[in-house]
Amino acid sequence: MAEEKTRSLHVPGNLHAPEKTLDLLHELQVHQIELEMQNEELRKTLAELDTSRSQYFDFYDRAPVGYSTINLEGQILQANLTTARLLGTERSSLLKQPFTRFILKEDQDTFYLLCKKLVEDESAISCELRMTRPDGTQFWARIEAILVNNEIGEPLLRIVFSDISALKQNEEDLRVAAIAFESQLGIMVSNADGIIIKVNQAFTTLTGYSAEEAIGQKPHLLSSGRHSKAFYQSMWSTLQTTGYWQGEIWNRRKNGKIYAEWLTISQVSAPDGHVSHYIGTFSDITANEDAAAEIHRLAYYDPLTNLPNRRLLEDRLNQALASAYRSHMYGVILFLDLDNFKLINDTRGHAVGDLLLIEVARRLHQVVRKGDTLARLGGDEFVVIMENLSVDIQQTTVLIEQIGEKILIELARPYLFKGYEFHCSASIGAGVYCEHQETSEELLRHADIAMYHSKKAGRNTLRFFDPAMQAAVSIRAALEKDLRHALEQSQFLLFFQSQVNHDGEIIGAEVLVRWRHPERGLVSPQDFIPLAEDTGLILPIGQWVLDTACAQLKLWENTEATRHLQLAVNVSARQFRQTGFVEQVKQSITQHTINPALLKLELTETLVLDNVDDTIAKMSQLKEIGVRFSMDDFGTGFSSLAYLTQLPLDQLKIDQSFVRNMGVKPRDAIIVQTIIGMANNLGMEVIAEGVETEAQRAFLEEHGCPSCQGYLFSKPVPVEQFETLLAQ
Ligand code: C2E
Ligand code: MG
Ligand code: MG
Repeated sequence: MAEEKTRSLHVPGNLHAPEKTLDLLHELQVHQIELEMQNEELRKTLAELDTSRSQYFDFYDRAPVGYSTINLEGQILQANLTTARLLGTERSSLLKQPFTRFILKEDQDTFYLLCKKLVEDESAISCELRMTRPDGTQFWARIEAILVNNEIGEPLLRIVFSDISALKQNEEDLRVAAIAFESQLGIMVSNADGIIIKVNQAFTTLTGYSAEEAIGQKPHLLSSGRHSKAFYQSMWSTLQTTGYWQGEIWNRRKNGKIYAEWLTISQVSAPDGHVSHYIGTFSDITANEDAAAEIHRLAYYDPLTNLPNRRLLEDRLNQALASAYRSHMYGVILFLDLDNFKLINDTRGHAVGDLLLIEVARRLHQVVRKGDTLARLGGDEFVVIMENLSVDIQQTTVLIEQIGEKILIELARPYLFKGYEFHCSASIGAGVYCEHQETSEELLRHADIAMYHSKKAGRNTLRFFDPAMQAAVSIRAALEKDLRHALEQSQFLLFFQSQVNHDGEIIGAEVLVRWRHPERGLVSPQDFIPLAEDTGLILPIGQWVLDTACAQLKLWENTEATRHLQLAVNVSARQFRQTGFVEQVKQSITQHTINPALLKLELTETLVLDNVDDTIAKMSQLKEIGVRFSMDDFGTGFSSLAYLTQLPLDQLKIDQSFVRNMGVKPRDAIIVQTIIGMANNLGMEVIAEGVETEAQRAFLEEHGCPSCQGYLFSKPVPVEQFETLLAQ
């Protein structure tokens, strides 16, 4: 265009000079305007080019995939920002790096093969491999590559790659789901309308219907006609409310055979909450008859002895009661508890214990009649139900006694296991029934109570339940209920019974607890201490006694006349055995800041013997701070000199039964003398309790026991009365 303009300046020379100049000027001006216009166009084009170039770079950098160019040595020459982001690094630090640095070692061969193939074929090619970032994290990448040449004809690789980890995960999930779907369980998937859309191979095996036959049908296809409409209605309503149903259902196979299946239906909901599918999984349980029998056996029989267990026993007992109601005949349930099973089990081991139980079951089988029920309740407890004994109660009783005797003899015969001989007996309680209104549970309890009385009567014997036993149990239960609140309602109080020396001077007292029951009046410790022991209530009660005694000692400290008094406190076995007993005593002493030497703890022989080592340890710890110990009811237990010498005792307390009988049984007088001699020889004090007569006191004094406690001096009395006694 510029050339054309230049040419058009050489116009014909027939014009005058000034005119020519003007024309030329004009033309120049036009030309300049045109040039400026052209310039403007060029600038615009350049600007447009600039914009699209930066647009290109934007697209390039922010593309959802990584673009990079590498040379044939594998060095990265160029990379977009996405590459840097995917590889978890800065773009600048990518340049000149080998691309394989970001490929997992195990997958680098895949990449080399890709490159090799590309150079040979020069076609676009792709692969999947795992890439790794400098921070150690990994991801699955899909890589596509092409071969290009640069300006100077060098071959380069253009690489496009993307993160396909999520895709890979989905694939894997699908693969697992597909394997799970082809499990041993029949599976059927139906849509929200209940139309079957998918079944597995096991479905076909179990039902006989192929996938083609089942798909498009409703599960009704399998219906056996055995269940009522109500059954299916309740199934659907459960499914709708809980999203889940499980149960046994009878269905029909394609060949018409009815079978039982265990079916679980789960509802699948779409994210918006609407039900999208139902999945039914089922197994054929008709084939499991053996398993069912085994399950039944486990549920109703004791695995060790194969005898019916408690569940089956209750069933049988109910049947027996119903049949007695019709036949008017008496029957009995015998409750058996082995007498020394625990000891054998603990000392000889559980294997021997098991053998013993099996043998007991065998012997019982031999004794009871065919048709009687023999059951094991657990542990060493067995029950026999004998029905239709007689219509006459006398005859029934005789029969029961005969059978009971047989059982006792049979079970008491020696047992021989592993070359050792064992001895074991049983205590039996009998609960007779006829057309009574008792429930099976009550009957079982009656027999249990009677068994307990057999134990109390010395074991290896049989006792019949009688209502008086029940009354005793009820009283005990009521008392126990009250005892639980006695402490918080301050119903306990302490009585003091004086202990005197040879001059008849009071040197101290034994504190004896009393329970002031709102209805029963004063309850003797003999009636509630055993109960408190059994229930564990002895712990807080014992603590209260100890505390109250210490508080009393503290009060007495203030007065000359009482400052020297000692208090003897009874300690029961459970209280002594509890961990922390020593600390509790120490705490009471420090809390009340009393002189520990004024506190004497009374222990019994049975308590001490139960665990001599623990006893010595605890006694020694308390002796260290000055607490004293007396052996209560001495002579009634099985004390041996051997352990008596080991115990840090201060005093022996001769039991009142010997004192009472001193004048009656010469043997008891000798025992008393022996105890006194023993105490003297061991360097211990001795005191006699239950001294009621002057003769007794005189005898004791004569034989070296001047300290006494008993009604002769005072009964146990409240503290005020005791203090009056002191003043006299
Ligand atoms: P124990 O420790 O052998 O107490 C002596 C029992 O003999 C007391 O009966 C007492 O009242 C009674 N007694 C004392 N002198 C005579 C007498 O001359 N003639 C007769 N016939 N009896 C006499 P109590 O108070 O009924 O206590 C009975 C048992 O209860 C005590 O026997 C003791 O083992 C237990 N006990 C009492 N208080 C407590 C206590 O605070 N804690 C514990 N763990 N046991 C206690
Ligand atoms: Mg005592
Ligand atoms: Mg005593």
